[in-house]
Amino acid sequence: MITGSCHCSDIEFCIHENELTVRYCYCTTCRKLSGSDYSSVARVARPSFTITKGAESLAAYESRPGKLRYYCSKCFSPIYVTTDNELSFLRVRLGLLDGSPRVKVTGHMWVSEKPTWRTIEDCLPVYMHEYTGE
Ligand SMILES: [Zn+2]
Ligand SMILES: [Zn+2]
Repeated sequence: MITGSCHCSDIEFCIHENELTVRYCYCTTCRKLSGSDYSSVARVARPSFTITKGAESLAAYESRPGKLRYYCSKCFSPIYVTTDNELSFLRVRLGLLDGSPRVKVTGHMWVSEKPTWRTIEDCLPVYMHEYTGE
């Protein structure tokens, strides 16, 4: 089991998986909302994800119609993201996780919006836009 929490520790969650499938996302929205070049996003089956503490501290921001980004209303850590067009999965950013869970990185997505100062130096698949497969 994998656990995670926000910066102020009001919110804690667990993911009932042994390994996470992760993409690096360079989309403008991830960059604006994280303040970073890209986000490392784990794709998690919804039934595997449970908020174990502080659900009442969650707030949501709709970054585009049907895409809800849940964050801690006290410290603003991004907790998880849901989309109407992918109901069986949600997304969690790796920076929230405790310890060193097993991670399988499967590629780079939204490379069309990657900033010029960020270079890709591995051999993982590159997707110009969204990629929802494995
Ligand atoms: Zn918090
Ligand atoms: Zn993104």
